[in-house]
Amino acid sequence: MLTLLKLLKDGRFHSGQALGAALGVSRSAVWKQLKHLEAELGLSIHKVRGRGYQLASPLKLLDPAEIEHLAPSCAWPALVSDSIDSTNAEALRLIERQHAAPFLVLAERQTAGRGRRGRKWVSPFAENIYYSLVLRIDGGMRQLEGLSLVVGLAVMQALREQGVPEVGLKWPNDVLVGQKKIAGILLELVGDPADVCHVVLGVGINVNMQMTEEVDQQWTSMRLESGKMFDRNQLVAELGVMLQKYLARHQVGGFSAVQSEWEQNHLWQGRAVSLIAGVNRIDGEVLGIDSQGALRLRVDGVEKVFSGGELSLRLRNDS
Ligand code: ATP
Repeated sequence: MLTLLKLLKDGRFHSGQALGAALGVSRSAVWKQLKHLEAELGLSIHKVRGRGYQLASPLKLLDPAEIEHLAPSCAWPALVSDSIDSTNAEALRLIERQHAAPFLVLAERQTAGRGRRGRKWVSPFAENIYYSLVLRIDGGMRQLEGLSLVVGLAVMQALREQGVPEVGLKWPNDVLVGQKKIAGILLELVGDPADVCHVVLGVGINVNMQMTEEVDQQWTSMRLESGKMFDRNQLVAELGVMLQKYLARHQVGGFSAVQSEWEQNHLWQGRAVSLIAGVNRIDGEVLGIDSQGALRLRVDGVEKVFSGGELSLRLRNDS
């Protein structure tokens, strides 16, 4: 099916006969595969009598050679899938099979993209970026401190560099434009954090997605914010450059090396929020973050510090 898509991706007309000949199948088999492409991948294909079939808009697929050409200094070996359950899940399977880190897993779509606590990340075909970078960590806990916040900074800077200037951060791991989510980050760890472990830095960025009814909170994409289409290979290259820069700063100076930059870009600095931890809720005012990336809140006039993967922040109505 994807071989057929690759023949069509130039956005030109292709006759059923030519497609059939290229694939070694009959014209009716081509037609069936086209219907399947539309249903399965949500693509729209025009059929014009006498001319053939054409994708409604040309498609540019992820291309590891192009990514490497654009950012040769941070070319982690990349495994690109047309369709996968989740790039983080694939990364974890590869770690299990002793695949040598660092490496990158990319996919055109995810059928079970994941967010925190089993939530779903909506991942349509060829529109966005689904990216998991695997690193081996053998420097102990310090290298993990505040790491998901560091990834957030790198994602934010990559988006700004590509032309989405209003993007900012929400503690601990969201990248937003105003109140709308444009990217999400999910770190997963295997091994012993105090000794040798592997960390999967999972990043989902809404790039050219214009509509979906599946996301149950406010969201946006780079295209919706800027009115133009983005080249995903360029964005992957840019993200690699930014990740390399921020991970290096973090490795040398710990989280405190990026603490003030993170705070300056925190969209909810000074806001009245509720911190949700399971069934518990704590109301407070955001003071900032500490040198390890933990959230500092003023609660009943007293500063308190919160950290941990199970915490979520919500704005209070009176904020
Ligand atoms: P938290 O504040 O705890 O981080 P969250 O709702 O942002 O809460 P995440 O686990 O970071 O949780 O992200 C998963 C959520 O993101 C989903 O429950 C859904 O609401 C939303 N979501 C899913 N797919 C997308 C997408 N492609 N773009 C934007 N938002 C999405």
